[in-house]
Amino acid sequence: MEHAARNLLTQQRGEDHTDAAKVADTPAVQTVLGGRTLRAVSIRDMSAHHVNTLIRVPGIVVNASRSTPKAQEVCIRCTNCGDLKVLPVAPGFGTFTMPRTCMAMRPSEEMGG
Ligand SMILES: [Zn+2]
Repeated sequence: MEHAARNLLTQQRGEDHTDAAKVADTPAVQTVLGGRTLRAVSIRDMSAHHVNTLIRVPGIVVNASRSTPKAQEVCIRCTNCGDLKVLPVAPGFGTFTMPRTCMAMRPSEEMGG
């Protein structure tokens, strides 16, 4: 997020934000999410309905790491027939299993096959 803020600041200075040297000349910035309108949610009150929403949690950060993105859907295309399928990935720690055969060749489940 800080990198995006530096890009924006470089852009506002009228310089090329895609030029890494220009971005490096821009002073480091700290971003603060506008938390005044967000009601604080204690860790004990966090639940599944907070997933994919921006929340504010009071506390002290003792460790931080980069989050790892996880696909919600996977789009696959058959190299033989070009059949395109969008398949959901299981939520949480669930993974995606790549089909071993072309899904166009399989009898459709709706047709009772
Ligand atoms: Zn195919």
